[in-house]
Amino acid sequence: MENALRACGAEILTGRPSVPYANLPFGDSSTEPSALATVLRNFVTAANRQLPGSHPILVLLKGFTKLSEPSLLGRRRAEAVEGVLKSANLKNPIIIVPEVGSGKCAVEVRIDREFEASFALGQREFEYNVAAHEFGHMIGLPDEYENPDTGPKLIVKKNYNKLVARARLIGPTFPWHTSSMMSDGMTTLNWHYVTAWEALGALTGEFLYLSEWAIHAPGV
Ligand SMILES: [Zn+2]
Repeated sequence: MENALRACGAEILTGRPSVPYANLPFGDSSTEPSALATVLRNFVTAANRQLPGSHPILVLLKGFTKLSEPSLLGRRRAEAVEGVLKSANLKNPIIIVPEVGSGKCAVEVRIDREFEASFALGQREFEYNVAAHEFGHMIGLPDEYENPDTGPKLIVKKNYNKLVARARLIGPTFPWHTSSMMSDGMTTLNWHYVTAWEALGALTGEFLYLSEWAIHAPGV
């Protein structure tokens, strides 16, 4: 989600490093300028690229007002941003937090980063199936939550990456903590089929090229 904010071109202010947020400039009226709407729609596109099965991260909107403006205007600004996010089909829940009279004309788009980080820290868990994960290893899939740089695991990772590239897929980024079946969750993704794809190719090599088998499964 934080990457999604960055990907949409929003400036991430790091004054409070524990809670990243994008502070979007906002006009004096409660209707959004089209440039801002484009930024927000790009944000939705990037945010919706998360893995299927991922927990929805809360998006918090805070509408600010100049000191001379009625405080209700802050909420209206936040609602205008919410309207654009919803019409662009943002899947994440949105919460408008009560505005504080800060004297600026802006809407703050914040993610609940503590919630998101709690998965990586193991404080919260994705739905998980050990048998499915271990079966993944049996068919040659590496753990995605680690990034080995030596030993047999490095060889497995390198060969796996080569196979994923051969299948013309974009594989996982090692290490990552996601809802992927080979990380912390139960989502199967297109690169989980590459070893079965290779085996099919070997079985049918007399009659077909490996490239004639295609993997149709959700990726990211
Ligand atoms: Zn494992």
